[in-house]
Amino acid sequence: MIHLKMYIDGEWKEAENQETRPVINPANGEHIAYAPEGTVADARAAIYAARKAFEDGVWSGLSAQERASYLFKIAHKIEEYAQELTQLETEDNGKPLREAGFDVGDAAACFRYYAGLITKPDGYTYHVADPIQAMVVREPVGVCGLIVPWNYPLLMSVWKIAPALAAGNTIVFKPSEVTPVTPMKLFEIFEEVGLPKGVANMVMGAGPVVGNEIASHPEVDMISFTGGTKTGKNIMKTAAETMKKVSLELGGKSPNIIFADADFETAVDYALFGIYSGSGQVCSAGSRILVEENIYDRFVARFVERAKKIRVGPGNDPSTEMGPLVSQQHLEKVLGYIEIGKQEGAAIACGGNRILNNGLDKGYFVEPTVFVDVKQEMRIVQEEIFGPVVVIQKFQDEEEAVKLANGTVYGLAGGVFTNDGAKGLRVIKKLRAGITWVNSYHPTYNEAPWGGYKQSGIGRSLGTVGLEEFQEVKQININLQVEPVGWFSN
Ligand code: NAD
Repeated sequence: MIHLKMYIDGEWKEAENQETRPVINPANGEHIAYAPEGTVADARAAIYAARKAFEDGVWSGLSAQERASYLFKIAHKIEEYAQELTQLETEDNGKPLREAGFDVGDAAACFRYYAGLITKPDGYTYHVADPIQAMVVREPVGVCGLIVPWNYPLLMSVWKIAPALAAGNTIVFKPSEVTPVTPMKLFEIFEEVGLPKGVANMVMGAGPVVGNEIASHPEVDMISFTGGTKTGKNIMKTAAETMKKVSLELGGKSPNIIFADADFETAVDYALFGIYSGSGQVCSAGSRILVEENIYDRFVARFVERAKKIRVGPGNDPSTEMGPLVSQQHLEKVLGYIEIGKQEGAAIACGGNRILNNGLDKGYFVEPTVFVDVKQEMRIVQEEIFGPVVVIQKFQDEEEAVKLANGTVYGLAGGVFTNDGAKGLRVIKKLRAGITWVNSYHPTYNEAPWGGYKQSGIGRSLGTVGLEEFQEVKQININLQVEPVGWFSN
């Protein structure tokens, strides 16, 4: 049993009231850890520590090279502990070892990317009338509140922490209450590499308690949040009171458009990967597959044939291709949506059930599920299910494909499969979404800005834009001829 602690001002802490919350392995329902149930007082202690560290300049006062050297050491340590981190991620979140291993590798690469980026030139000059010399510089925002979900416990943390620290901010970080294990390991690494006290603080606990305190506290300058759209809206309202900068990575219901001229097997393969990797618990999941009508039946038949063969099981079994859902509560939500789909009149082409055989009854496993005969206005087409449930819709032509694809409140991601290059780009350019692929689905790059249009969020993670999110912009106008302005006559 792992006994987790919070990390505040360079010290490992229990919750102020000593309360804990069990952490569960979703593959078998066993308790793997106890986490402190942080309180408002704990959140405040972390915020004050971060504020003090920021004002003292122990981090922002370092040169970019010095900060980068810490980030490189962190990347190195993540790799050194890769096996342990991978194992823990699988136990905590349920994802297969293969997926967890990719996340750990990506996490190290993300630290390296921002370590490199922060030492590159930034800012610019602009030309105004003499005798003014003008320039723009970038500065850290200050104390950043970082709040993350459970689907990529380590990687989502790193996507925020790496650029925030690179930019010279201090942080108050909150992992999901469901998956705090690998985030704590990451903070152990921060301690090991000697990050100055108070620079990186972690508080565990409930969103409406700890998260809300971070979002509302006047000493926090910015909130960077990844999670559900409803929570994002609440955070935005709360943060408005103190006019915090907000960056929101929210939900999606992303379309994957398959034209008849696409390479058929490639399209089927990526469509499966698009929805069933991560058991569909991926913000950018291709949860709506739109197929041109003349290949629709053939596509559905082949997709279902392959979906039925996906090996569902515990993540620590190397033969497992799809793991469980993250929690009992989330299992109920996903099964609830399957019921809604049936009641709405959609037809199940495969799956639709919890898996209770082969020793999986103690875990939260759901069959890869396909709905057909769906209508655009159905809830299973419009709402994020966040599980291994896909709807396959039919379209007649390019125009209808785009209309259906854009026909939800979300705008996170989207894919197009076609062998007509011009058509692929034409359709992608009409998609109201921030992350897109042509003849591919899902690969994510540290170099590329990640985020959504519409109700999928505000701002971007990763890439150069992801660093700028954690920076303020300042104009500096320097008078090279120091004499009175002479506006008033006496
Ligand atoms: P969630 O919104 O329930 O929780 C996310 C985090 O917010 C957790 O740490 C939670 O404790 C905290 N929280 C909850 N209520 C809060 C409040 N009132 N104030 C402050 N913090 C609060 O989301 P989840 O169920 O953990 O994650 C799934 C969601 O995350 C999905 O909608 C998914 O699409 C989204 N997601 C988006 C991206 C992206 O990049 N766009 C990436 C991963 C996940």
